[in-house]
Amino acid sequence: MSDKEFIKKYIKVERAKYISIYIAEVSWTSVDNYELEWTCIKKKRISTSTEEIESIINDILKNEKYFSRCQKCNKRDLAGFMNSIKGHKTENSGIFCHSCLSTFGYQF
Ligand SMILES: [Zn+2]
Repeated sequence: MSDKEFIKKYIKVERAKYISIYIAEVSWTSVDNYELEWTCIKKKRISTSTEEIESIINDILKNEKYFSRCQKCNKRDLAGFMNSIKGHKTENSGIFCHSCLSTFGYQF
């Protein structure tokens, strides 16, 4: 997914009294079901320039608290879709997407 698609899918900007920036967070309702919950993570004055808002959004995209990159296939996704694993071997430790984890024998 490109940056643009990520922003479109997982980041929302609301303009009212303030400019509020929301991020989608994954909330697992069961093993294979999730809902996206919108959390406001930044509030800026309505006079804030578009450039500044864009730079905040780019920082969010780079923030590993919200978006993680799979250590094996390098795929980026919402942190909630990733799993942090401590494996027996160092190459099996780190943050991985579910499809790479299944290649290690983890079931989802
Ligand atoms: Zn992966």
